[in-house]
Amino acid sequence: PVVLKVENLCKYYHGHGEKKLALKDLNLDIHRREFVCVIGPSGCGKSTFSRIVAGLEPYDAGSVQVDNEQVIGPCRNRGMVFQGYTLFPWRTVKQNVMFGPQMNGADRDSAEKAALQWLELIGLEQYADAFPDQLSGGMKQRVAIARALVNEPKILLMDEPFGALDPHTRQKMQQHLLDIWRNIDITVIFVTHDMDEAILLADRIVVLKANPGELIETIEVPVARP
Ligand code: ADP
Ligand code: ADP
Repeated sequence: PVVLKVENLCKYYHGHGEKKLALKDLNLDIHRREFVCVIGPSGCGKSTFSRIVAGLEPYDAGSVQVDNEQVIGPCRNRGMVFQGYTLFPWRTVKQNVMFGPQMNGADRDSAEKAALQWLELIGLEQYADAFPDQLSGGMKQRVAIARALVNEPKILLMDEPFGALDPHTRQKMQQHLLDIWRNIDITVIFVTHDMDEAILLADRIVVLKANPGELIETIEVPVARP
């Protein structure tokens, strides 16, 4: 089944009295459990696309549907992981992961239980009471993934999530993400400008070009994952 349906999506930015077309007539279907990488040069609209799908950015024309529902704002159907570790520094690791369920009305005990389950799955349960600045970059990014997944989203959206990591940590995180993806019912949309990373991770690569951001092609990747 199709989990994300994008039809004739257009997005303009306004600045200095002019309109700039950031995404032009994008059409795309993404299926349940697919791992899709979105790739293209800087400025082609990759981040804009992921923010629109996340419900964090309005769009000007076309339609974006997740599970047949129009995207009109943030929702627990989509979990988002950014390049910068967007963890609250004044909260513990566990409290960071509990935040999503609590926002959704879960009581403390069930939010804590869910958080601890996810921390165990990402191998950081012993850091539950640590603060983010006590963790390495890769560990922080694992917590960010747990925080995105704890609400059981349909789609995990990742915007250059490993861009700030050193090559060794990055490789470990790629493997880690693949392990998670294989073990749970999740569709991954992964934005990167690194073709090697896209080929390593994706079932399918969506290639955008810049000026204006436009879909050039989608490439099925022969499966050769680690
Ligand atoms: P990418 O992630 O592929 O680098 P972006 O989605 O960040 O591309 O940007 C696409 C285009 O839209 C670029 O030309 C960028 O300068 C422009 N843009 C992005 N965000 C804004 C904004 N908030 N206001 C105006 N222009 C923007
Ligand atoms: P909706 O009411 O559209 O279903 P949710 O109840 O899922 O949305 O989310 C309510 C608010 O909580 C949203 O503004 C969203 O940004 C925020 N939120 C949801 N999940 C998370 C999360 N994992 N981390 C941080 N904030 C979240």
